[in-house]
Amino acid sequence: MTPSRALARVNLAAIERNCALLRSRIGDSTELCAVVKANGYGHGAVQTARAAQAGGAGWLAVAAAREAAELRAAGIGGPLLVLGALSGGELEVALDADADVVVWSAELAERASAGARARGIEVGVHLKLDVGMGRLGTRDPDELLAVGRRVLELPGLRLAGAMTHFPCADEDLALTRQQLAAFTAFGARLRELAPDLLLHAANSPAALGLAESRLDMVRCGIAIYGLDPWGRDPAEHGLEAALELRSHVAALKPIAPGQTVGYGATFTATEPGWIATLPIGYGDGFRRAFSNNGVALLGGRRRPLVGRVSMDNVCVDVGPDPGALRVGDPVVLIGAMGEERITAEELAALIGTINYEITTALSERVVWEYH
Ligand code: PLP
Repeated sequence: MTPSRALARVNLAAIERNCALLRSRIGDSTELCAVVKANGYGHGAVQTARAAQAGGAGWLAVAAAREAAELRAAGIGGPLLVLGALSGGELEVALDADADVVVWSAELAERASAGARARGIEVGVHLKLDVGMGRLGTRDPDELLAVGRRVLELPGLRLAGAMTHFPCADEDLALTRQQLAAFTAFGARLRELAPDLLLHAANSPAALGLAESRLDMVRCGIAIYGLDPWGRDPAEHGLEAALELRSHVAALKPIAPGQTVGYGATFTATEPGWIATLPIGYGDGFRRAFSNNGVALLGGRRRPLVGRVSMDNVCVDVGPDPGALRVGDPVVLIGAMGEERITAEELAALIGTINYEITTALSERVVWEYH
């Protein structure tokens, strides 16, 4: 067993069940694309991809071409889409990985065609319409239709799909409906040119919360990990959080009134008490924003984090009497201990961020265990 200062345990069966649940919600005529970018939102891209496929995801998506190459190198087959802009040599990496690519200019289509011909392959192209996200894609449907015509003319390319990405599916369904209408109007025109293409738009909140946005495929990330796109309780949708984060008590010592904890001496004890030091810090991706603003489960109880989170350690106030607590005892930072539970959603709310960032931040120094 690998000695672990901090241990992330990923329940792959939960990811599989979450995918199967999404599959049953979206119905047989809609594909499920599991989004495993950023190392599977921190959970491990290869392991997540396999579990998602076992749960019925017919497609996988990543942001960067290198992520596609890593999946292929691990032997992951099946349709794979690189969502991101293919700049700085990424197009070639995506083509070598036999991944589909996202295109919104004739220039990129021409480069993709040249690269595909040089390799003797055919690459699937998905046209991207920007309906309000404002980052990738083109806002002008006529211009994108012209790109679509060019894709159909160019050798080595297959017009495989058209996509968009919603900026507010978790917040504003009225706006999302308008954006969906703009996309489906474009999709109907494009379908006259290429009847078999896949239209896809929905991320997790749209797939769960706006049935008409599911179209031919949904691209779900956060939900497959059992995390809630709205930052609420994932169980509301029957989702099961796949990740637990654990550590242990590395040191336990008394503190007297007036004594301080951590860099900057930002915590000063006012009462006699005990401090447990955990061997996890921002070097493990446990965010520094939890300084004096976090929670941990020790001995089955919730306890506050005190002092600043440092690179390798964080301290917990265990109160005036440590009771049976000993060095080596388990600590839960995400997950359950007895009746108590800390969720990624709760941690995100504490520091004003989203659950996506909590899990994605966890680093390779954490020991990753899959079960
Ligand atoms: N599609 C695109 C283009 C994305 O960038 C993302 C993630 O940000 C997703 C789908 C998945 O989103 P979610 O994790 O909210 O399901």
